[in-house]
Amino acid sequence: MQTIPTIREMQAIVRAAKTSSTTIGLVPTMGALHEGHLSLVRTARAHCSHVIATIFVNPLQFGPNEDLAKYPRTFERDTELLMQEGVDYLFAPSAEEMYPQGAQTLVDVPELGNRLDGASRPGHFRGVATVVSKLLHITQPDLAFFGQKDAAQVAVLRRMVRDLNFPLEMVVCPTVREADGLAMSSRNRYLSNEERVQALALSRTLQTAKTLAQQAAATPATLREAMLHTLTSTDGVRVDYAAVVDPETLLDADDLSRETLLAVAAWVGTTRLIDNLLLPAREVQP
Ligand code: AMP
Repeated sequence: MQTIPTIREMQAIVRAAKTSSTTIGLVPTMGALHEGHLSLVRTARAHCSHVIATIFVNPLQFGPNEDLAKYPRTFERDTELLMQEGVDYLFAPSAEEMYPQGAQTLVDVPELGNRLDGASRPGHFRGVATVVSKLLHITQPDLAFFGQKDAAQVAVLRRMVRDLNFPLEMVVCPTVREADGLAMSSRNRYLSNEERVQALALSRTLQTAKTLAQQAAATPATLREAMLHTLTSTDGVRVDYAAVVDPETLLDADDLSRETLLAVAAWVGTTRLIDNLLLPAREVQP
């Protein structure tokens, strides 16, 4: 595996590698890798001749009071893991390399980008869309791999890829969880032992709503209410949102006849965690 720190080198490698028979796969990450990230890498490895992973803690997607400075950085271990997974290139630029002085162009998906996490993290998805579009331009992948764990991000990026005609296919991989159901996240390492137990409220909430959704009388409103109830009844958990929405528009679902996204965000102590689950379309009763 080659580690590439500059855009110019990365572009030269891509230019040389691109032929009609190569398939370039991109896996963007912020590092502090766990099995969730590695599942994306493995899927990319299975489908692509050339796999590029990126590690870049993107300052543009962090708000002024968020955890940019303390975001976990485990670069050596990450490099080792990516090497073991057979990644060909690790693109790991500095913030100055990605945003040299004078840079001012932003990519904004204004409506979708202000829903769910975008509502409580103003500017977050503008940062994400900007950095991902830069990474897509630099690496020119045929396939780009993202996690369902970040469902709102998936909706924003799908819209951006369509709106800006990026010539690639987005591949969304399932959420990888700890044995007890907690969705893996680089931020889980912030949790104390007590908070680690409290954090199970998120996955429990989704499971409760999924069970409830099997009842014929269930509606988006009853699911929302049950989700809020489960989340708020756990000590140490402060709810940001409990949403029952259309996975593409992120707008409130009217009914459960189509595929529906159940999504939650909550602070456990000072750590903000998210999780979600896709409910398949309800079969129409004859
Ligand atoms: P991050 O490093 O948090 O920006 O995540 C990089 C990519 O890994 C994103 O596409 C995430 O959605 C994905 N990812 C993060 N956690 C998980 C998980 N538990 N399961 C699957 N994918 C994940």
